[in-house]
Amino acid sequence: MKKIIAVTFISTSVLFVACGNPTSDASVNDTAAATMAMDTMSTKTYEVSLVNNKKDPTCGMPVTAGISDTAHYEKYVLGFCSKECKDEFLKNPKAAIAAAEVK
Ligand SMILES: [Zn+2]
Repeated sequence: MKKIIAVTFISTSVLFVACGNPTSDASVNDTAAATMAMDTMSTKTYEVSLVNNKKDPTCGMPVTAGISDTAHYEKYVLGFCSKECKDEFLKNPKAAIAAAEVK
């Protein structure tokens, strides 16, 4: 009887360890995500709610990832991840506006 309890205990421990690893990985990812969110917040100049586009029309990055620069185009305020993307957009806004997914 004692042997069965011991085996049960061991297999439970193994299960616990097996389950424990992904959990600790997840907490590492959470920490990384939290750090990223903090970085985004500290460097964010513009609020997502201030712009009309969902995506940077040049590189396709969601504006929720951070907006470094904005441009006015027609009736829209567009957010860009970088000045380089804004400059690229302004070279040919008519072609790029569709990719911006304006609201
Ligand atoms: Zn971009």
